[in-house]
Amino acid sequence: MGNAIIKVNNLVKKYGDFEAVKGISFDVMEGEIFGLLGPNGAGKTTTLEIIETLRKKTSGEIIVDGKNLDNEPQAIKNIIGVQLQAAGYYPLLNLKQIIELFSGLYNKNVNALELLDTVNLREKAKSKFKELSGGQKQRFSIATTLINQPKIIFLDEPTTGLDPQARRNLWELIKDLRSRGATVVITTHYMDEAEELCERVAIIDSGQIIALSSPSELIDKLLATGFKRPKAVKEANLEDVFLNMTGKEWRDE
Ligand code: ATP
Repeated sequence: MGNAIIKVNNLVKKYGDFEAVKGISFDVMEGEIFGLLGPNGAGKTTTLEIIETLRKKTSGEIIVDGKNLDNEPQAIKNIIGVQLQAAGYYPLLNLKQIIELFSGLYNKNVNALELLDTVNLREKAKSKFKELSGGQKQRFSIATTLINQPKIIFLDEPTTGLDPQARRNLWELIKDLRSRGATVVITTHYMDEAEELCERVAIIDSGQIIALSSPSELIDKLLATGFKRPKAVKEANLEDVFLNMTGKEWRDE
């Protein structure tokens, strides 16, 4: 991990009089999985969508892969992968056709079935988006971020609503994207997920970054204050029972 592929400097976003993002600064390093954590309404999606060129900032500077967002938004769009909003999943097209449509728009030559393979959805190539289960929809939405072979992938709560195995399988998929060289920026409300996936996390609260470090360093810092978690009474929990009984394979086919 070497260079900062995203630089955010003093970013402010106001909605009318309300300041949702209050001058935050952070770097995302090339090749890392970087997490944005924080309570509902903290400003995570706003921050992501500004970097993705989908929302206008009020002030501040953003550089993505050496390109200034103010001058070269299109160049930034070309190298990032963003989950399509549901409206992008044309209801009359099947999954393969949607991928082919977008590859055409991006001017990329993508093998739709191979791409569906990477998210374990080849069997559903002829299905419509609305016919998919929740987990399959999330996986398809991740596949759509890969169509333009991006350097940076943005995932906004990609595992919300998924069952425990499906979440773990998506974690493997996200790690796989990183091992193929992508940088991943992810928001999540699941701290186990952030701990498992992220090299570094920024914790945002009320529009400000209140911590930025690796999960392990943040935990050590808390422990150094004398914090002790109440001891678990049993050495397994209900999630362990669930996973042990239902297995770890993709199950929603
Ligand atoms: P969540 O975890 O609930 O998704 P978030 O951290 O992603 O939250 P944002 O969606 O960025 O939070 O919202 C930050 C704040 O800005 C919230 O108070 C929200 O109500 C406000 N906000 C977001 N979008 C708009 C908008 N288009 N107009 C006015 N206020 C907005």
